[in-house]
Amino acid sequence: MLSNAQLNERRLDATPRGVGVMCNFYAQQAENATVWDVEGNEFIDFASGIAVLNTGHRHPKVVAAIEKQLHAFTHTAYQVIPYEGYVTLAERINQCAPITAPCKTAFFTTGAEAVENAVKIARSYTGRPGVITFAGGFHGRTYMTMALTGKVAPYKLGFGPFPGSVFHAQYPNALYGVSTEDAINSLQRIFKADIEATQVAAIVLEPVQGEGGFIVAPTDFMLALRQLCDQYGILLIADEVQTGFARTGKMFAMDHYPKGIADLMTMAKSLAGGMPLSGVCGRAEVMDAPAPGGLGGTYGGNPLAIAAAHAVFDVIEEEQLCQRAQRLGLQLVELLEKSKSVCPQIVDIRAQGSMVAVEFNDPVSAKPSPEFTQQVQKKALAEGLLLLSCGTNGNVLRFLYPLTIPDQQFSQALAILARALTQ
Ligand code: PMP
Repeated sequence: MLSNAQLNERRLDATPRGVGVMCNFYAQQAENATVWDVEGNEFIDFASGIAVLNTGHRHPKVVAAIEKQLHAFTHTAYQVIPYEGYVTLAERINQCAPITAPCKTAFFTTGAEAVENAVKIARSYTGRPGVITFAGGFHGRTYMTMALTGKVAPYKLGFGPFPGSVFHAQYPNALYGVSTEDAINSLQRIFKADIEATQVAAIVLEPVQGEGGFIVAPTDFMLALRQLCDQYGILLIADEVQTGFARTGKMFAMDHYPKGIADLMTMAKSLAGGMPLSGVCGRAEVMDAPAPGGLGGTYGGNPLAIAAAHAVFDVIEEEQLCQRAQRLGLQLVELLEKSKSVCPQIVDIRAQGSMVAVEFNDPVSAKPSPEFTQQVQKKALAEGLLLLSCGTNGNVLRFLYPLTIPDQQFSQALAILARALTQ
């Protein structure tokens, strides 16, 4: 039998440390919310490969769709020979995206690639260079998306210089005392100090900051951003890479706001149930700005991934995963609220559907406690529950279980979490 320790030694020799790895065990098999490692240990997966598996590991419908496509064709390069599945998936997304119709959608492979392309489209449409994003935001590891990302360590360390004309505003954060007014004022400061508003192509934001700590943008902030965009002809790009596909209790996080706030939306992760697929959906006239050949990529909209995405859409509908995300999220929040009395480290519980996070401070110093966060993570893992951290200070636990997790397994996971928080 392969051992985790042996594989770890080989990994350290064969792969660079820059590809940081969280677990010291190696995956062998997975099904829905359960993962087994090479030594046969079993884990409840509350990470979902970083928000990719809203429909669980190897959902039978996703597997069947991939298998069927595997026997038809696996690659043509959509830009060389197109196929119906790509067009139908674009139609499905155009129909449900909370963007003022008509919409168009293009497919890519990774989340970062989607964000890169959204910026390309926005610059092409507006003919302007500037892009504004937010401190604490995360948009990827490519050069433009590193520039957009609002966190230096570890994402930008040693990698500069970055593409220019990118500026960071403040993201509203009630816990850290940043109000909607403060955030809008920080944008106005950028217009005064860095770039005139009429030279800004786009404002890029996550409706719920993901890596930043599951911080939900308040509605008044979204409306104020839309107003600024209308005033100066700026496009609003909602980065839904982590928030999409039923996670927040609605298909997209932008569905929680009045329709038509975003001009463009990026999506990836849970779009294709574990297959690499991303997309940009937006107002048709904006999407049509780049000339033919300006968008695309050899693998963008890979047929296997497109087939998987169709199955994901079906499963979300058939298994009512938006409703399920609401129900499971409420159950988890209830447990966290109850734990407050015995876990003085809890300073904040944030939730939108099943995008749930808990933030920890040291009760004596009142400072962020990444140490306690890691301790909870470690204790939970010792009992077989895999949890992810996040937040600019590393003191937040985020919960990204498959929305298809069986009720009994979910209760079992919550019991482990309760013990990890209090022992
Ligand atoms: N945007 C957001 C909001 C993300 O959460 C992520 C990934 N965590 C990305 C972009 C980048 O996606 P990828 O890793 O697929 O390039």
